[in-house]
Amino acid sequence: MSQKKKATIVGAGLVGALWSVILAKRGYEVDVYEMRPDFREAGYIGGRSINLALSERGWKAAEIAGIREEIEKVAIPMPGRMIHNLDGETVFQPYGEKGQAIYSVSRGGLNIALVNIADSFEQVRFHFGQKCQGLDLSTNVLSFEDMQTKTSYSIEEGLVFGTDGAFSAVRNSLQRVPGFNYCQQYLEHGYKELSIPARPDGSHAMHTNALHIWPRGQFMLIALPNLDGSFTCTLFLPFKGEESFENLNGKDQILRFFNKYFPDAVPLMPTLVEDFEENPTSYLATIRCSPWHYRKRTLLIGDACHAIVPFYGQGMNAGFEDCTILDSLMDKYDEDWDAIIEEFNANRIEDANAIADLALMNFIEMRDKVADPKFLLWKKIEQHLHQKFPDEFQSVYSMVSFSHIPYSKALAEVEVHKSLFEKILSIPNIENQWDGPEVERAFREWKQERDRE
Ligand SMILES: Cc1cc2nc3c(=O)[nH]c(=O)nc-3n(C[C@H](O)[C@H](O)[C@H](O)COP(=O)(O)OP(=O)(O)OC[C@H]3O[C@@H](n4cnc5c(N)ncnc54)[C@H](O)[C@@H]3O)c2cc1C
Repeated sequence: MSQKKKATIVGAGLVGALWSVILAKRGYEVDVYEMRPDFREAGYIGGRSINLALSERGWKAAEIAGIREEIEKVAIPMPGRMIHNLDGETVFQPYGEKGQAIYSVSRGGLNIALVNIADSFEQVRFHFGQKCQGLDLSTNVLSFEDMQTKTSYSIEEGLVFGTDGAFSAVRNSLQRVPGFNYCQQYLEHGYKELSIPARPDGSHAMHTNALHIWPRGQFMLIALPNLDGSFTCTLFLPFKGEESFENLNGKDQILRFFNKYFPDAVPLMPTLVEDFEENPTSYLATIRCSPWHYRKRTLLIGDACHAIVPFYGQGMNAGFEDCTILDSLMDKYDEDWDAIIEEFNANRIEDANAIADLALMNFIEMRDKVADPKFLLWKKIEQHLHQKFPDEFQSVYSMVSFSHIPYSKALAEVEVHKSLFEKILSIPNIENQWDGPEVERAFREWKQERDRE
């Protein structure tokens, strides 16, 4: 791969914009091609969630890009879930220990902030309204269409990063390479965004500092707070079946469904029917592929190579972590891109596949288990064990959201933790002795067994 400090990035979404900042900080000349018009002027049309949960892995990348403080000013901490039961009762479940939180941030705001920072570097050039058509694999020539003039042109570049999201044109070209593996799996559930506006005084209509969930078994509603006092809600629902998008047609059916399953939310959603009818129903997919590079000259990062379902709030965080890892590999290999891409490709794919699996598992946890008293007890005991044995026990959720432990290690812990909690939850009268010596004894035995293995 060319050792010239020059790079082309396709896609100025969250990952591409962040990656351009990191490269610019290292003195690279960076050209970023983005299909959309400049969203700082044209307005941000994401086509996807208005707000996102940012957690530890994302914060680290933001720090490297020098944007942490700016984001902190506009991020709303969510230290736990607020579960809304069918009878209107709410229960708060902390995600981690005191002081730990995931953060609600505006997708558009974050993307614009990243582009602004990147643009403040002289050597970063943004080319908006330029749609990548693909990469000619034999010549390493990228072709584009100018979206305004409808003219096509090509550029020949050395180092190319495909950060053009789940439907990546760069990846599409790589798919023609023999040996390139690709798997796209759609969920039977779709999603639709709805809204809870601010109260007349501008305050939030529900508890501000929580990720609100209405778990209803096969489906769920969630809400994340925005700075303007509103909440963005997302309904995740099967496309087909008894309670499904295909059966929610017209005001009566929509209101019947919401009044039946989310009665406490309905009075807070004055434009529910209009929002439901006007907002699109979108698909959710998991995308896995390998290798992520072509001849170590073209590298995919972010959703372009690992799009996941949103139930762990990790898609962007994982893409940002790609950038953090590449940044540290640049130090390790003194910017030798052959070596960087070799190691990144060898190690990171397993972690991306692991967070894809974890995200699918967490869907079941969010829509179903969070309302189960046994699950709540499990969570309480997890916290107790972590407080008591901070160096020896950490929940899988906390590994994913509050640490930099590789996702594959966190996934490997799922079954192991299950075996511990099966044991603990079978202790007689566990509800009344969840922090007692029996639990600690079970933990110690489990730990000794693990250490012996
Ligand atoms: C409903 C929902 C909720 C989510 N919630 C969370 C969350 O809470 N936390 C979290 O971490 N993640 C979340 N995610 C995932 C997150 O949105 C993605 O992981 C993240 O946006 C990936 O960033 P990216 O830059 O790789 O791709 P994208 O954000 O998709 O950006 C790709 C960019 O490339 C551009 N582009 C595409 N094709 C071309 C082309 N041919 N030529 C030029 N430019 C092109 C696009 O216009 C876009 O700007 C959620 C996703 C969804 C769908």
